[in-house]
Amino acid sequence: MSEAAALGCVDAPVLRERGQREVFCGLTGIIWLHRKIQDAFFLVVGSRTCAHLIQSAAGVMIFAEPRFATAIIDERDLAGLADANDELDRVVAQLLDRRPDIRLLFLVGSCPSEVIKLDLSRAAQRLSGSYAPRTRVLNYSGSGIETTFTQGEDACLAALVPILPRPTPDEARSLLVVGALGEVVEDQFRRLFDALGVGPVRFLPPRSAADLPAAGPGTQFLLAQPFLADTARALEQRGATWLPAPFPVGVEGTTAWLRAAATAWGVRDAAFETVIAPARDRARAALQRYRAQLDGKRVFFFPDSQLEIPLARFLSREMGMGLAEVGTPYLHRQHMAAELALLPAGTVLSEGQDVDRQLDRCRDAAPDIVVCGLGLANPLEAEGITTKWSIELLFTPIQGFDQAADLAELFARPMVRRDRLRV
Ligand code: SF4
Repeated sequence: MSEAAALGCVDAPVLRERGQREVFCGLTGIIWLHRKIQDAFFLVVGSRTCAHLIQSAAGVMIFAEPRFATAIIDERDLAGLADANDELDRVVAQLLDRRPDIRLLFLVGSCPSEVIKLDLSRAAQRLSGSYAPRTRVLNYSGSGIETTFTQGEDACLAALVPILPRPTPDEARSLLVVGALGEVVEDQFRRLFDALGVGPVRFLPPRSAADLPAAGPGTQFLLAQPFLADTARALEQRGATWLPAPFPVGVEGTTAWLRAAATAWGVRDAAFETVIAPARDRARAALQRYRAQLDGKRVFFFPDSQLEIPLARFLSREMGMGLAEVGTPYLHRQHMAAELALLPAGTVLSEGQDVDRQLDRCRDAAPDIVVCGLGLANPLEAEGITTKWSIELLFTPIQGFDQAADLAELFARPMVRRDRLRV
């Protein structure tokens, strides 16, 4: 075990809370996934509440042709389950008639009891049969009962794994990067992997349903996002191997993440250094400006996106920030092991939520900035506490060397603004 691991939070106690939660449901993931897989469509099978949620969450986005919609299945439509299935078939027929470009259709389940009674996996199979081979229909759940907002991506990608092609015999070995990344980030990583001689490299989700990456024995995968437990399990069941690493957030995380693949491919240290040094050194220099603004400030994370631990590690180790509390909705000990090893010893970690108690702890800690969901941000701001919306960290490309300074700026900006207002 490295010195950092010995000093870190690998075995640190975690405050586990199971009370009222303030988080979005997994439907939210549609907002970034629909931009990623460009010939896919997400049909939420849900209520008016679900339609309202994704419309208002998407309201911050500009898009030319929406690739999501809601089929509203409510009591009025429900004379019986057969009617609901007929209604769904009708909506899908209309949609595919109007949008023949859709190659992959996700039926996304939600919470209302009418929807829970519907067997969406059966419906997906039935519809896949009807529209094969033009359009494939899959299903997953984005229900708030089962998922927090980033788990919607996990459920979506896990649903894709069974339809991934098996590697061909000449594709004995490949690297799969798992988790939706901004295209600019993907292109940067692809260039670095190419320069390192690591590959072939594929990405899940792909940009097109026609370009599904192969996965099987011989596939080694890196997680680009920390909330993909089900997808990782599904890939392992296919015979793929996970490469343990911190997440590619900040200079340190990105270096370690790239190094995990480089080591698996037998790249020598000197070659690794030559390839990554220019981007890494540029990123380090760009961070300096923000370090001056963030050093010594304290941050409190409410559990929301599962990105909290990698972000806390970056803010504390590279930006000099203090960690008042690091909350996460779910702590995957194995996927987080390398991150926990890097957190300062004694960090207060919490898993799950009892929102009132956590708000009390937050007020007592009086941090300089709070990372939380939209529901908590307004009341906290009204109390004079500076906040950062965790959802912004999903919409913004933050991974990789060239984005490290942008990530730091996301935290620095609201604090600089607050300081100006106080002056
Ligand atoms: Fe729909 Fe449930 Fe999400 Fe509310 S929590 S928007 S009912 S899926």
